[in-house]
Amino acid sequence: MTTCNCGALAVYSDPFNPYSLEYCSSCFEGYIEKKILKGVSRRVRGHPIAVAVSGGKDSLVLLTVLHAYQDELKLPMLIAVVLEEEIPEIQQERQMIIQYMQNEFSGLPIYHVTYSELFGHKLPNLVSANDRKGCGYTPCSICGIFRRQALFELGVRHSVDFIALGTTLEDEAATTILNTIRGISPSFQYDTSESVMKSSQKLPQRIKPLARISEDLLRVYVKIRKIPTISTPCPYAQRSLRSKITSFLISLKARDPQGSFLFNILKSKQESERKSVSQRQIYACERCKMISHHILCPSCRILFKIFELG
Ligand code: SF4
Ligand SMILES: [Zn+2]
Ligand SMILES: [Zn+2]
Repeated sequence: MTTCNCGALAVYSDPFNPYSLEYCSSCFEGYIEKKILKGVSRRVRGHPIAVAVSGGKDSLVLLTVLHAYQDELKLPMLIAVVLEEEIPEIQQERQMIIQYMQNEFSGLPIYHVTYSELFGHKLPNLVSANDRKGCGYTPCSICGIFRRQALFELGVRHSVDFIALGTTLEDEAATTILNTIRGISPSFQYDTSESVMKSSQKLPQRIKPLARISEDLLRVYVKIRKIPTISTPCPYAQRSLRSKITSFLISLKARDPQGSFLFNILKSKQESERKSVSQRQIYACERCKMISHHILCPSCRILFKIFELG
């Protein structure tokens, strides 16, 4: 029987840290929180932040920790943005998560915005129109493009400087592999100085405080804190290449339980990003007026292709 430093019975250790101590529940909770706080870069301190909450465990853990340490992080404003794709299978559960957030995080402004409000269509309608017309988008590629744009738009509307995403180590690894398969070069940096937006509009930057943390640890945190999360899987997930890559990464984890391959993928991603940072201009889309790197934003291009193009 192992004991934690505090004297209580030890029940957890960090499988991704070869030097991990053994912890009791309460000390392991603190250990994970410390890891998350380490992922919040110093440049974020003193700035207003929005947390993008899907209702899944990752974003809810991130919100829980940022809310608990808001003063310590010197965040003058923290808001939660919940994007609603209006997928019936998960909409009801998300409503329960919002209820939980309202009860749990006192004083936290929560903005729950639907795809219909922002783009005029629910995700299921976009997916069926796309399928009918044979445009070739996967549901996740439509959803991802709209979500990314919606978050920037809401960030601008609520004057935040940063949008915190619950992207985990596994998500980062899967995205890197996906981008490599698709031949997409490393992320671009927004060039605010060249922006053609009104100078009063500041562009929020995306941050990923969980990018070096495995979702296995977040799962334990959710269990210890008894945080409710959406349990129904998205009905479209199986159609995505990402789900196949995620299964592949899980099978690799069985061979490398310390997850060194995940940190290696992350390292190569960061190195190639450093080498190829390019700056891009920002526009207000000529159709929907949301911010974009293009005169016609990616969402409007999808809408045009699905609904208007002959
Ligand atoms: S699985 Fe795909 S379609 Fe479903 S919510 Fe996630 S990104 Fe959107
Ligand atoms: Zn302890
Ligand atoms: Zn647009």
